[in-house]
Order: sequence, then structure tokens, then C-alpha cells
Amino acid sequence: MTNSYRLIPNMNILLEEFKDYPPHIVKEVSNQILDLYRNKIKENKVDFETKDILDDISNALKNYNEFSLKSTINASGVILHTNLGRAILSEKSIERINEIARGYSNLEYNLEEGKRGSRYTHLVETVKKVTGCEDAIIVNNNAAAVFLMLNTFCKAKDVVISRGELVEIGDSFRISEIMKQSGANLIEVGATNRTHLFDYEDNITENTNALMKVHTSNYKVIGFSESVGADKLKDLAKENGLYVFEDLGSGSLVDFSEYGLSYERTVQDSIKDGVDLVSFSCDKMIGSAQGGIICGKSKLIKKIKKNQLLRAFRVGKLTLAAVEATLNSYLDLDKAKKDVPTVNMITMSLVEIEQKAQKLYELLSKIKGIKLSIEKSYSKVGGGAYPEDVLESRAICIDNVNINKLEEHLRLSKYHIISTVHDDKLFLDLRCIFNDQFEMIKEVLKSYYE
Ligand SMILES: *Cc1c(COP(=O)(O)O)cnc(C)c1O
Repeated sequence: MTNSYRLIPNMNILLEEFKDYPPHIVKEVSNQILDLYRNKIKENKVDFETKDILDDISNALKNYNEFSLKSTINASGVILHTNLGRAILSEKSIERINEIARGYSNLEYNLEEGKRGSRYTHLVETVKKVTGCEDAIIVNNNAAAVFLMLNTFCKAKDVVISRGELVEIGDSFRISEIMKQSGANLIEVGATNRTHLFDYEDNITENTNALMKVHTSNYKVIGFSESVGADKLKDLAKENGLYVFEDLGSGSLVDFSEYGLSYERTVQDSIKDGVDLVSFSCDKMIGSAQGGIICGKSKLIKKIKKNQLLRAFRVGKLTLAAVEATLNSYLDLDKAKKDVPTVNMITMSLVEIEQKAQKLYELLSKIKGIKLSIEKSYSKVGGGAYPEDVLESRAICIDNVNINKLEEHLRLSKYHIISTVHDDKLFLDLRCIFNDQFEMIKEVLKSYYE
């Protein structure tokens, strides 16, 4: 019986065998696995060879270095899938990240004057050109942007906001809670479905500093409903010497109503209506890296720059590089449709999606035993935008196997393909799948069937 212990390799042999890995990791990983095999011997279950142990250690070492953050293939048809990392970046943004990451930059250096500069200067000109605002600042995300607006101007002051606009975004985050944390007193007015101008008017007191509008991103109040536009709030604010702030949430720069979506307010609309400050996310409809932009009146932006808390929300150079490049694409809308993946996927024609579906269908039909069809499907914008709208799309549909098992196989495969299952069928929506992912999908499906 004791002879079985000879099957357990000596640590020096293991260190030699796996010398490509750091010795302390080989020791740690090997000891865990050797313990399992020693226990087997103790329990008289000697059903292994030394090779099995080496294989286990080899696999464990490979896993030891595995990244937790992995790439996925988005076959869900949801363009801004919050769980899948929201927007994907344009090639130009990726190039710029690469370029800036590789070397030193003028992040906080004024090249003309040869002295200290500010990281907040870099985006201003582009945001001004794209939105028509006076000035702008970028922070870590839109939640931080809303917080800073209120913390800077409404600490211990009243902010009047409609009950119909107290949004809860994903993962039980309530925008109203963030507002309260900023130190502002939220004065909720109106009813859930209807808020009138007089609701705001009646609640203005000496302690009021701002009227606030929040875009109802992920829901719509329909039926017997009414809300007050920012333009009307602006007039009321002016009469009373108050600010008007707007949290646009997804913050589109493009009116997508000619692409089958309903009309949603753009950042430009907000600026035109004369709001003092408007904030929006950079990784929702804009289609860039995580960030939040506040833009509007120059005098107010200057004050935000003096808020000590800004430091806690500041963005890094990689974000600046990405967002500047993305916004640059919007200077020419035709360019944005081509270059910014989010805009491209929203404006993608059904003909183009059908062609993609046909190509993938033909490729996958070569797999033995697979049963496929091309079906009508519906994509969504996601990211808390256009909650009511769907975009007609096409999907590859598979239905003659254990669908839940297949879904898991796709998800756990090395490419992590995220599909949807309904009516006992599995769907791969083509809108967010790139052409260069077709072969990967084939490889994974082939390994399931063959
Ligand atoms: C998404 C959203 C936010 C939060 O934006 P992040 O960039 O995710 O921090 C805030 N307000 C509204 C209305 C939103 O839709």
C-alpha cells in the first residue's frame, strides 16, 4: 500500500517540469493537488497514475493566471448591455488609448506655456463643437456628474424635482439617493403620472436653488400623463433666480427617430432649451468609455472645478483619450454612423443584418447534425435608453437539442457566447455579432455537435 505514494511526484521534479511558472506558485498549486491525491491513497482509492496528477497541476497552473475580466460575444441583440460592459469602443478610440497609454502625454501640461496645465481642458473644445455648450467637464460617470452638480450648487438647499422622474437605474441604484447624498434637499412634487408647472411654482421657497429634470431612462410614464419640459422650467427659474439642471442619463447626440426609434431628447436640445447644466453618461448612447460629462454655462462649470470633491471623481488619461476620440467622430454624423459601434448598430439596416444572418447560416449549416433557421428577432438599445422601442433584427435559431445545455456550452466556451433562450429555442441575434466572430461561433457549436 505504501508503494502507492511513489505515484506522487517529488516537488523538485514538479519545479523542473513547470519551470515556466514562478516556483512559489508551482509549490502552492502543487501542494493543494498533491494533498487530494494523498487523501485518495489514504482512502484506498488508487485509481490514478502520475500523469493524472501532472495534468491536474498543469491545468490548475493555467487557471492560476487566468483573467477574471473576459471578452464575450454578444448574441443577445441588446446593444448597450450593462452586464456585458455597455458600449464597445470605436477603433479610433482604441488607437488613441493605445497611443496615450504607451508614452507620456500633456495630460496636465500646457505645451504652449511650458508649465502645469489641467486635465479638464482636453475635452472642452470637442464638447463645445458637438453640443453648442459654453463649457464642459468630464468625471468618472454620470452618477458622479449628478452628485457634483448638486453638491456644488444645492448643498443644504432645496431642489425641486417631479415624482415622475425619480429613477431607479440597474442594480437597485436610485438616482434620488445619490442626489440626497450630495447634501441637497429633494423636494418631490406632482404625482407619479402627472406633474404641472404650478407644482414646481408652488414649491419654490427662499431656500430653493434649482429645478431639476431627470430623464426617465428605463421607463416611460404613458397614458394619462404630463410632465413639464426644460424650456418651460427655464422660464420659471429665470423669474425666480434659480438654476435648471438636467440629468439626461443616456445622453444621445443623435436624433434616431429616422432609424425606427422614437424621438428622445438630445444633449443639443437641452443646451438649446437653455438649461444651466446638463449631465450624461459617456458609455451609453455616446458609445465610449465609462465617464460622465457635465456641460452648460461657463460660470457654473468654473465653480464645479473648484469643488474639492472633483478630485475624487476625476477621470484618467485613458478615459480622456477614448472619449475625445469618440466625440470627435460626431463632428461628422456620417462618420459617427460608420465609426462609433453603438451608432452603427442602431442605424444598421435590416438588409445588412439579413446578409450577416445568411452568411452565418451558411457557415453553421456545415456542422453535422445541427438544425438551424433564420428567424425574425427584435434587438433593443439597452443601457436605460428607449425602454419601449425594439429594432427588428434577424437571429440564427437552433431548436433540436437540449437548449439550456447548449446555452451553457456557448456561455462557458472560450469565446463566452451570450445567447438568449425562449420558446424552447436558442437565438443568436446578428445585430451585435461582428463578422470576424462567425468562425469562433462555428468552432464552439461544432465542438458541441461533433
Ligand atoms: C444611467 C443613468 C445614470 C447613471 O449614469 P452612470 O454613467 O451609469 O453613472 C444617472 N441618471 C440617469 C437618468 C441614467 O439613466
